Amino acid sequence: MSTLVPHWHAGARWPGLGPEPERYADVHDPATGATTGRVALASGAEVDEVVAAAVVAGREWAQASLSRRTSVLFAFREGLHRRREEVAAVITAEHGKVLDDALGEVQRGLEVAEFACGAPHLLKGGFSEGVSGGVDVHSMRQALGVVAVISPFNFPAMVPLWFVPVAIACGNAVVLKPSEKDPSTSLLLAEIWAEAGLPDGVLSVVQGDKVAVDALLTHDDVKAVSFVGSTPVARYVYETATAHGKRVQALGGAKNHMVVLPDADLEAAADAAVSAGFGSAGERCMAISALVCVDPVADRLVPLIAERMAGLVTGDGRRGSDMGPLVSATHRDKVASYVDAGASEGATVVVDGREVHPDGDQGGFWLGPTLLDHVETTMTVYTDEIFGPVLSVLRVPTYDAALELVNANPYGNGTAIFTHDGGAARRFQHEVEVGMVGVNVPIPVPMAYYSFGGWKSSLFGDSHAHGTEGVHFFTRGKVVTSRWPTPDLPRPGIDLGFPQ
Ligand code: NAD
Repeated sequence: MSTLVPHWHAGARWPGLGPEPERYADVHDPATGATTGRVALASGAEVDEVVAAAVVAGREWAQASLSRRTSVLFAFREGLHRRREEVAAVITAEHGKVLDDALGEVQRGLEVAEFACGAPHLLKGGFSEGVSGGVDVHSMRQALGVVAVISPFNFPAMVPLWFVPVAIACGNAVVLKPSEKDPSTSLLLAEIWAEAGLPDGVLSVVQGDKVAVDALLTHDDVKAVSFVGSTPVARYVYETATAHGKRVQALGGAKNHMVVLPDADLEAAADAAVSAGFGSAGERCMAISALVCVDPVADRLVPLIAERMAGLVTGDGRRGSDMGPLVSATHRDKVASYVDAGASEGATVVVDGREVHPDGDQGGFWLGPTLLDHVETTMTVYTDEIFGPVLSVLRVPTYDAALELVNANPYGNGTAIFTHDGGAARRFQHEVEVGMVGVNVPIPVPMAYYSFGGWKSSLFGDSHAHGTEGVHFFTRGKVVTSRWPTPDLPRPGIDLGFPQ
């Protein structure tokens, strides 16, 4: 019987209500294809059990002083930093991304924990003395109670860390539902929180699938939901959870365009396109999947990119490869079928990842970096989010045509422009309908103290993740107006109108 990946409940690993889970899913090592474990899939009753404990723990945690909360956050930051290589190894073993990239993901998450260490400052309210005779007003932000975080497979550490430290710093209890494809990282994170002194029940992990998600979305005691995943599920989560009275931020899928103008440094643009297209095998919501070349850029840029791709090693992420496998056999086959479709719809396959010779076990879920040229906006390789190592080149005659193409796309997560023309870059950042914009930066992920989020079909809800928007999302504002009698102030007396 393979190793069980359990839940985390009441400060410890928990198999669920019975000695063995009733339902489970297999967990794989994508670099070998081997089944390495099975993850418990929670029932509705198990979600209820965990949420009930979170309600009790959250009530107490909301009363914990800011210095107590901050000391736990600092200790968590230290623990995560100390154990970062262990966390990265677990990510690589279940997700497949190369170790360096996994370490980078932990680092990005760590930065959110560092941001959350500033909770005493972030939660300060305002005070106005003497808004009227003897009347003062102050504001405060208070915890929501129990909040749910539902995360995707592609960042098993970073995405939970976008939310969990901020929610905890704000005095909430969190129930995390990680992806069932790479569930073990969440347990390691929970263990580090426990070692940091976080009281039992303030963070729980419920492993599971749609059953667990639905139980969280409809639970009366869950007050807010932070979701990250594909657009159809993000839309469903937003609609279901808001219909049940919850505050929701649901971050969805993406199709990120990199626009290259003729005056750009094409060597730098080629480096950027390769890094942003094939890092993490393209399984990043900020990966560049569409390269929009303004004429005559493509004729020069495509060969530069192909030349660089020839030097990339696809293989086991533990062996120093540049790019790892895809997360599952099904996903690999789906991505490969998009390459087939692109070729039959008329795109030119410049570099064909279907012919990859990986540095790794033959059973791994391999697909090499792929470059398609002469892609049209009607082809499925362009219309769909592929989420794999496939870079499509689209050719347009002008800057205006490039902008129109980017803005016509239903997604609006990230985009970039490569140019030496400051005026064009300034126009682009103003005119483009996308939430995160890079100027000569291919993956413009905001720092932890800014907020992360896309526009249009890339985000349902109003709040972006982390930064001050995260603090707002995880708290409710309250404004108090007070009058204290003093000897020099007359009693206001009766007045049925608004004060003037
Ligand atoms: P996914 O939508 O399949 O799964 C996300 C989460 O939802 C998982 O926890 C999963 O268990 C759960 N889920 C899946 N199907 C469900 C259903 N029908 N009902 C309820 N819950 C369900 O996404 P994924 O494949 O794990 O992750 C990749 C996707 O996430 C890509 O589309 C990518 O662009 C997106 N993503 C977006 C961002 C962002 O910031 N916008 C960041 C990372 C990933």
